[in-house]
Amino acid sequence: TAGRINVAYVRGFASQPELATDSAPSVKLLINGEFVESQATEWVDVTNPATQEVVSRLPETTSGEFNAAVQAAKEAFPKWRNTPLPTRSRVMFKLQELIRRNMDELAANVTLEQGKTLPDAKGDVFRGLEVVEYACNLAPDLMGDYIENVSNGMDTYSVRQPLGVVAGICPFNFPAMIPLWMFPIACTVGNTFVLKPSEKDPGAAMMLAELALEAGLPRGVLNIVHGTHGTVNRILDHPDIKAVSFVGSDRAGRYIYERGSANGKRVQANMGAKNHAVILPDANPEATVAALTGAAFGAAGQRCMAISAAVFVGGIEPWKDALLERAKALTVGPGAAAGTDVGPLITPEAKDRAANLIQSGLDQGAKLLLDGRGVKVPGFESGNFLGPSLLSGVKPNMECYKEEIFGPVLVCLEAETLDEAISIVNGNEHGNGTALFTRSGPAARKFQNEVEVGMVGINVPIPVPLPFFSFTGWRGSFHGDLHMYGKAGLQFFTQAKTITTNWKDTDDHRSKRAPGLDA
Ligand code: NAD
Repeated sequence: TAGRINVAYVRGFASQPELATDSAPSVKLLINGEFVESQATEWVDVTNPATQEVVSRLPETTSGEFNAAVQAAKEAFPKWRNTPLPTRSRVMFKLQELIRRNMDELAANVTLEQGKTLPDAKGDVFRGLEVVEYACNLAPDLMGDYIENVSNGMDTYSVRQPLGVVAGICPFNFPAMIPLWMFPIACTVGNTFVLKPSEKDPGAAMMLAELALEAGLPRGVLNIVHGTHGTVNRILDHPDIKAVSFVGSDRAGRYIYERGSANGKRVQANMGAKNHAVILPDANPEATVAALTGAAFGAAGQRCMAISAAVFVGGIEPWKDALLERAKALTVGPGAAAGTDVGPLITPEAKDRAANLIQSGLDQGAKLLLDGRGVKVPGFESGNFLGPSLLSGVKPNMECYKEEIFGPVLVCLEAETLDEAISIVNGNEHGNGTALFTRSGPAARKFQNEVEVGMVGINVPIPVPLPFFSFTGWRGSFHGDLHMYGKAGLQFFTQAKTITTNWKDTDDHRSKRAPGLDA
């Protein structure tokens, strides 16, 4: 029934202002199918970014607990990998149904811990749900190859087999979607999993794990450990973990890629971004301004596919007033309040960092068209709010351009030509997403061909591919070679085995007595 989640993790998901640090519930570990209390000596507060209230306390998993989680996954693997694929897929069928049924509760938890608006929180769950739907029927993409007669009487075929115990390390910004990018695919192809949610908002992952158990995922197939760098290091160093899927910042991603790879693991690291929109003078004025403001300021800019830089070909002047008008009309407030467009940033530090980068833009000669610093939200004075901010006259050598701000800040550049705009985009170290706004087919074709970015939108501001494609960030936004979800995701979590057989035609099977039957 709806609303049945009674997560072993927290007592409630709605905001509980009366919860103080020492009375806040602890976030449990999931080891071998049981939600267990950690014996950790170090704990991290999970806070509501709209209020700073402590929602729960998260343990720094002990070494013994960590090893127990990996051991549970290791022991669950042989039986799970030999469980028929349709049976494994059926767990995903059930899980997608349970996620739908519990959508409101999941979204409420995302808003509580991450801060985004309720519609954005539902989007967070929904985009993850789509990966679960894909996992319900991934067999066609998992099929191997077969060539008959590679030699006389010999055939060769290849199959994809699971790796064993694999792990996922998640960021804070999509607390439901990113865990769902990882474990549904990894487990459906036969692996067992150790998940480390973000220490900032673990709630959605815990709820999803509870739903996965209810859906029939056997004990040990999905385990959850918590913590920060120490837990990450354990994942990177444990010899039984064969692959690590990471989503998060550049700094952590590079480190995780290097240390994990050095330990012989397969690693995919999806990292930071500076996603450019290039606006040609012929673009549809209203649709383009609406798309830009939604993609720059929606989810408070805390999306790895947010548009954070706009390059106006021919200058910003024709666009400025409409852009300002629309940005100013956005309502900043707590994510749970109806009518909020822009929620808080995740932490006070994230807010200060964004504000400092705005200031650095000013100091380096950019113009602040709209200043969201100092925005006040009545009743939520402690929240990490930053209003939509617009910097114009930004140059590629400025800090506000070079750094990923990860807040509701759009930096605006200008270019004389499409070629110049493309070279600006290609000169940035990141290559996650980009979008071109135009009514010209030839310009669009040139852009998609020449831009060195892995996900391209033509009049589409946030071109996140649906799960039958893969999430294909390039250059500084991705380390590894097999991307998340879709066919690449299946390949990441499986390895090819190629079998050659020799069944030369002999007379055996033509004899009156079949071989083996002579008694
Ligand atoms: P983060 O790197 O701070 O944290 C991500 C995970 O790594 C967390 O689980 C954290 O505990 C761990 N971690 C953090 N620092 C670490 C370190 N030094 N050593 C080891 N582990 C560490 O990222 P975040 O702030 O949670 O998420 C926001 C970032 O994620 C942004 O840069 C955003 O662009 C990026 N992101 C990228 C994608 C993508 O697909 N490319 C998607 C979502 C978010």
